[in-house]
Formats: sequence, C-alpha cells, structure tokens
Amino acid sequence: MFRHIGTKYFFSSILAVVLGLGLCCGGCSMGTSSTTDKPQGTETKAKVPGVAIPRRSPDVKYSVPQGVSILMYHMIGDMKNNAAVMTKENLERQMKYLKDHDYHPITIEELYGYVANGDPLPDKPVCITFDDGYIDTYTIVYPMMKKYNFPWTLFLITDDVEKSYQRMTWDQLKEMAESGDVTIANHTLSHPKLHNLKTREEKENEIIGASKALKYRLGIDTAWLAYPYGDYDDEVIDICKKAGIKMAVTTDAGRVHVGSYPYELKRVYIGNDISMARFVERLNKDNYSPV
Ligand SMILES: [Zn+2]
Repeated sequence: MFRHIGTKYFFSSILAVVLGLGLCCGGCSMGTSSTTDKPQGTETKAKVPGVAIPRRSPDVKYSVPQGVSILMYHMIGDMKNNAAVMTKENLERQMKYLKDHDYHPITIEELYGYVANGDPLPDKPVCITFDDGYIDTYTIVYPMMKKYNFPWTLFLITDDVEKSYQRMTWDQLKEMAESGDVTIANHTLSHPKLHNLKTREEKENEIIGASKALKYRLGIDTAWLAYPYGDYDDEVIDICKKAGIKMAVTTDAGRVHVGSYPYELKRVYIGNDISMARFVERLNKDNYSPV
C-alpha cells in the first residue's frame, strides 16, 4: 500500500504514526485518570503546586446549591480589642461544627465552576479563606485544616513573606503549596488600596507582580485574587482579566450564587464577635444577621 508513496514520505508517515501513538497513549492515560466516575478530589488527582485537592468520601452527594458562603478569616490568635483576630479555640469550635454536621469545604477551583458554570457542589458546601499570610496560618490553620481534611484558600501578600516574625517564610509556603491541602492565591504585592494608586502601571505592578512572585517562588499559576481591603475599581478588574485572574473576592458582606459576577464576589466575615448560632446562620442564609 506504500507502493505509490516515495521513500521519504513512507518514513515520515511511519514517524507520524509512531508519534501519533505516543501522543494517544499519553493522552489516553491522562484521560483515564480524569474521566473516571469518581467524584472530584480523590487521591488519584495529581498535585499541582498551590492547588488544594478536595479529599472526600465517594459517598458524598453533589447538587447545585442555592448559594455558598465564602468564609473570610484573617489572623488567628489572642488579640484583645480586635474581634477579627479569631482565637484558636473559636476556630477549632467552628471547624469541628462543620465536620460534625457534614458540611463540605470546597476549593476555590470548585467554587469557580459553581459560579461560572453552575457546576454541582458537595452537599452543604462552604468555602474557607484566610487572608494575608500570617505565621499562624502555618502554625495553627494549616495543621488544623489537615486534621479535618478540609481544603482551604490562602490569599497571600507576597512582599510581606519573611518580613517579620509574624509572617511566614517561603520554605513554609513551599511546604504548604506542595501539600495539596491549600490553594495559594494573589493578595497583591504590598496590600494597597488599589483604586488609590495613581496609574494603571502601579495597579498592574501590584497584581501582576504578586502573580509572578507566586510563580517564581512556589511554581504557582494563580487565577484567584482577593482585593486588599476589598477595594477595587473598573481598571483593577480589567487588569485582573488581562493578567489571567478568573475570579476575585471582596470584603463586601454576602453569599455567592450561580451567575454572580466573578470579579466582585462577596464574602462572609467571621470573627470572635460571631456566636456559634450566628456562625451557623452565616453558613446557610443569604440574609444573615449583621454583627
Ligand atoms: Zn488583606
């Protein structure tokens, strides 16, 4: 059948077939692991730096919820007169509540699927986020979330890493990034109020600079950002879009839904001034009580 084909074409055809088979095998084996009926997040999923792997029982049911609360935490520790700094005990109480009552923390990647495409989520979903990158994120939050098997998201101020004893080191962040426990995302270089910056270049520097630091230091390609102080403007959103950010969260109070604008997602504040009853309300109700 190769009679009418010149030798040169014959060998290049053979080469093409061999390459094609190679590609197919590579593609097929990848396809096998990603198209099984197992729910997302089984241990077979490859670890990507700075991307949390949800580890859930295959029995967990999935459906499209009415809404999802993105819980917003900051520093964990004992600081009188600052309710936003949660005590370790309160955080533990809340995480235990989630575990005991069959809530399913989701990754920010799963949240994006829900918001942008209406993808199903596990029953009783909740998205847990920590901002800034304090040392307690490594010493308290990281082991606690590991204990409960909860995926979570850290929005990191990259210029603050190793800045003082209150901040994490790059080594600690690298360990976390490679654990598959946490998604590490953009919280700008230096935490300015972005809309106050005078020029587009300054805004770009803060957003793109932090993405580059995550990539350079930790090998992370991030698509997620938290605006410092929840502050942004149209130009900031435009920069995010062009910088590969697919979704950004604010500090405005509220829950998110299918079709929520992905660059203005509201979050649910949690602090020491939120009782357990109020915490539960904040997990479930769009019109939750104010602080
Ligand atoms: Zn912040």
